[in-house]
Amino acid sequence: MTDVLLRGRLLSFNDEPLAGEESTGVFTYIEDGGLLIRDGRIVAMDDFAVLQAGDGRNVEVKDHRPHLILPGFIDTHIHFPQMQVVGSYAGALMEWLSKYTFVEEQKFSDQGHPERIASAFFDELIRHGTTTAAAYCSVHKASVKAFFAESHRRNLRMVAGKVMMDRNAPPGLLDTPQSGYDDSKALIAEWHGKGRQLYAITPRFAPTSTPEQLQMTGTLVQEHPDLHVQTHLCENTAEIAFVAELFPWSRDYTNVYEHYGLLGQKTLLGHCIHLTDAEIGAIANAGSVAVFCPTSNLFIGSGLFDLARLRTSNPPVRNAIATDIGGGTSYSMLRTLDEGYKILNIQGQRYHPLRSFYQVTLGNARALSLEGVIGSFTPGAEADCVVLDARATPAMRIRMETVETLVEELFLMQTMGDDRSIAEVYVAGRAAKSALAN
Ligand SMILES: [Zn+2]
Repeated sequence: MTDVLLRGRLLSFNDEPLAGEESTGVFTYIEDGGLLIRDGRIVAMDDFAVLQAGDGRNVEVKDHRPHLILPGFIDTHIHFPQMQVVGSYAGALMEWLSKYTFVEEQKFSDQGHPERIASAFFDELIRHGTTTAAAYCSVHKASVKAFFAESHRRNLRMVAGKVMMDRNAPPGLLDTPQSGYDDSKALIAEWHGKGRQLYAITPRFAPTSTPEQLQMTGTLVQEHPDLHVQTHLCENTAEIAFVAELFPWSRDYTNVYEHYGLLGQKTLLGHCIHLTDAEIGAIANAGSVAVFCPTSNLFIGSGLFDLARLRTSNPPVRNAIATDIGGGTSYSMLRTLDEGYKILNIQGQRYHPLRSFYQVTLGNARALSLEGVIGSFTPGAEADCVVLDARATPAMRIRMETVETLVEELFLMQTMGDDRSIAEVYVAGRAAKSALAN
């Protein structure tokens, strides 16, 4: 395969820029940069002129000047079966689930439906510059097969799993402790580690699993300690009260997951809004990840994620950011950063644009324990990239006339940008957005 050399303004992080632009040595920015890709991986990031001189091999140059090139965006919490739930007019979480989401997810037992949605889903992720996601499939095995088959065909690095749920949902969406375990085992054997696919053990959340199911989920985790675990936690106060009723012995909601051995370093906990100090301590000590889903939290009216509180605990809670489609309202990590900024700002927490772009790249890669694999331009990393155009719309073009620094440009992109700002996407070194059928 011919080498590919991307030319543009390169930005890649190697640590969190906690001090904003005062942070030194935590990111690399090259004005006329070259990113050399061979067999789907990063070989080098340097001045274009240096890499152009090359070593005599055939190189195909793709010139993206004056655009910015970053590692592909990573979405750490998204529901694949909820493409047709986005923008449902519901009240809080429980009504949203029962009236729309559970109805929609039942369609994933229909012939051909999961395949059709999978194709649309990955088109949409690519369109928005997202090259990796941690996704919930439906309870049906077929939904996971459709998801991974399509992801594998496109050579995307994806994390996903079959939702396990055996109570408090319509009969068409229920498995049993045994079938949830057996189906997960079969899917792990078939898909985990196949190409770029990673399996996540996925109990939906405590309200929809019996103690027996959570027990068997804990067994799955013990048998596959290298797998991700994803679930929801403390999104909404009615949900928390319901968990207290269902698990009266439990100290709190987090303790339910803790009790069944589901809190570990690869555990992703969606939302984490209404936590007690004891819960924050338990999550921090386990090294689990709190996943901030701003557009979803605003849309469903769940509450305000308190990043500063999580990060100032000792030890700090690891954190990530995500769309949470279909409670979330946009596939765009740029829109997600914009709403996240507002949620933090209204609580008096400034969030620097450099931290934002760190978070959707290396930060989320770290949250998924995939540092060095995705999320940066480190040599050897998989060559997933996003090409960003800060002048994608007339309004952005006129605003860019007054922008003088990289930080200002990034902030403009997260405030005004969306899929139109994604000029191109590379998946393992291959152009993916321009290859979409539209
Ligand atoms: Zn969710």
